[in-house]
Amino acid sequence: MPAAPRPQILQIAVPTPLYGSFDYLPPRACDPARLCPGVRLRVPFGRGHVTGMLLDVAAESRVESRRLRAATELLDETPLLSPDLLALGQWAAQYYHHPIGEVFAALLPTLLRQGKPLHDANETQWRLTAAGQAATAEDLQRAPRQAALLQWLQQQAQHGADAEQLAAQGGSARAALRALIAKGWVEEYAAPITIETTDTGPAHHIELNGMQHAAVEKIGAQLQQFAPFVLEGVTGSGKTEVYLELIARVATAGRQTLVLVPEIGLTPQLVARFAARLRHPTVVLHSGLSDKQRLRAWAAAASGEAKLIIGTRSAVFTPLPQAGLIIIDEEHDLSFKQQDGFRYHARDVAVWRAHQRGVPIVLGSATPSLETLYNAERGRYQLLQLPLRAGKARPPRIAVIDVRHKKLHGALSDAVLQKMREHLVRGRQVLLFLNRRGYSPTLLCHDCGWIARCKRCDAHLIYHQAQRRLRCHHCGGEQQAEVHCPECSSDQLRPIGHGTERVEQVLRERFPEIGIARIDRDSTRRKGALQQVLAEALRGEHRILLGTQMLAKGHHLPEVTLAVILDADQGLFSVDFRASETLAQLIIQVAGRAGRAEQAGEVLIQTHHPDHPLLRTLITAGYPHFAAAALTERREAALPPYTHLALLRAEATAAELPQRFLSEAMALAQQHNPHGVELLGPVPAPMERRAGRYRAQLLLQAEARAALHHLLATWLPQLSALPLARKVRWSIDVDPMEMV
Ligand code: ADP
Ligand code: ZN
Ligand code: ZN
Repeated sequence: MPAAPRPQILQIAVPTPLYGSFDYLPPRACDPARLCPGVRLRVPFGRGHVTGMLLDVAAESRVESRRLRAATELLDETPLLSPDLLALGQWAAQYYHHPIGEVFAALLPTLLRQGKPLHDANETQWRLTAAGQAATAEDLQRAPRQAALLQWLQQQAQHGADAEQLAAQGGSARAALRALIAKGWVEEYAAPITIETTDTGPAHHIELNGMQHAAVEKIGAQLQQFAPFVLEGVTGSGKTEVYLELIARVATAGRQTLVLVPEIGLTPQLVARFAARLRHPTVVLHSGLSDKQRLRAWAAAASGEAKLIIGTRSAVFTPLPQAGLIIIDEEHDLSFKQQDGFRYHARDVAVWRAHQRGVPIVLGSATPSLETLYNAERGRYQLLQLPLRAGKARPPRIAVIDVRHKKLHGALSDAVLQKMREHLVRGRQVLLFLNRRGYSPTLLCHDCGWIARCKRCDAHLIYHQAQRRLRCHHCGGEQQAEVHCPECSSDQLRPIGHGTERVEQVLRERFPEIGIARIDRDSTRRKGALQQVLAEALRGEHRILLGTQMLAKGHHLPEVTLAVILDADQGLFSVDFRASETLAQLIIQVAGRAGRAEQAGEVLIQTHHPDHPLLRTLITAGYPHFAAAALTERREAALPPYTHLALLRAEATAAELPQRFLSEAMALAQQHNPHGVELLGPVPAPMERRAGRYRAQLLLQAEARAALHHLLATWLPQLSALPLARKVRWSIDVDPMEMV
């Protein structure tokens, strides 16, 4: 008698906040040969159905067979995820101790997560033929619908239209379209997924200098293996040129490069620069894409068609069947760390991926993170330096302005005003940096001392004068600004301190004849607004540029010769041990905006603490010396990168619950006899109340990563069984970057 076929148990990652995968039986009448890891299946879950990812097929289940349910439907003919992406997801779930189903959900573009087929990425579009371009509405006097569509295609849709855009033209557009196709004026085509490269004329070629050349050769010689590099190059040293040369080599060999950039760094300016220089199919992945566009970009990467993939954080999970190189630009940038849900660090995931695929990875920055410098110091990463600005640009002069006892004109000292005039008279541009938007960070009653506070957070409300509103920058709450003090009814409410909106007002009074642009999240909320104001700045329409973080990064503004940091004190005395590193990086970034072209730049830093050792080292000796000193401090304080951290957070509407839950968690951890792991806390979070919830945290610190992960792996899955687990929201953050 032939042996009964062995049961196949499908191990499926299901999008749910529970650890581990779930076992299912195959769908009825499903060919077992098609059940390969990497295919999606529709599975019953709870009362509904969800899309799951098949991780493995086993002979036996961990649950009783009568409790097993069958998957409903196989969604993919062939695996959607290749074995390397499956391994990546499994590793990430393990390393970040995050539920595997949520990890795989994060790996996929929304439409695929929803179970839509990959071939939805193929898109038919319609465009005018040459005859259609030449036709006029008069030729169609008896067919007004066709005339209208023709005109629309000629005026609004020169690059072709998709089905969605056509549908928006009204119900009869389809019929009119068919008529135009019959006339030979419109044609159907398969829209390219990749962005068009500007094929106009020869790419303008830059001769690499000696140091750039050496970096390219060093990396270029190791393209066939895992090799991590740190490209430490001052702003304007030509790092991007090094990337471009390497990408071209990799693409010419038929292989793919993944370039990750910070959120603010992914500007049309940058993409245009890449597209103008590389004649290879490129896709761009960022948060502004529609679900459909994201799917198409993903598909182009998965098919190997796209040779260059540029994206922000989540692009680190893009398929790369022909992986050749990974580049992380501005690798120190905190936007690479996902701060909620699946809290991964895209740079660290990228290093793991490069190792997995046996390709080099380049971590570029003018101000590498201390973690990365430490890895270079220990010989794990090869350090390549570009210490000089490329071309004719010179390094800027940096000076500290001691504002103690000085009169300030709306956050501006006389010294700064004087320098601004000097640069403006010469026709140059000035950049002012202030990391605080709104009019003033506090609204105070002069008669009784009342201060406007958020009712849901431990924070002041920020006064926004233009709309006369008080906003909380932590929970998003807002209200009309009072005219009278709610405590004493006085009308003496005063804005205290300066945000960008207020400094802008002061500047307009002081420099009425100069164009001023304010660049922050409030002024650039409208889509395209940032690009517009930057374009105006490039044309010289604005000569004073005032802004937050948004202005500090990535934009090439050659006419800026003076950069001013209006308030360096914010970052000097923070509870977060990374604050000084972040401040130093920011100062160098802002300084990098000054004098990028032929004119020498100047940088001024206003502070009440001119003798602060961090500022002194940074300014007199430069970032590398600052970093060395900061690393020594970290070692002495046993902080990362010398130790490894994980942060267990809990929050609840009842004040005492988070700490009580964390105490339970701590007691449980101690039962595991966590050798080599120190448990610190629980303590209230630095901002204890946010959005109406009380927050607390328990810090885990270990010298050896293995000891920490060993504890996390056994301990975390038990937390949901704790008595208070259902009364709080809790989460684990491995390698936390912010301790808030
Ligand atoms: P980074 O990325 O390090 O900030 P970029 O690659 O953007 O530097 O280069 C800064 C400027 O210097 C750009 O305008 C670039 O075109 C120019 N540049 C870079 N390398 C060279 C070179 N070898 N010769 C002349 N100009 C260069
Ligand atoms: Zn009052
Ligand atoms: Zn709030």
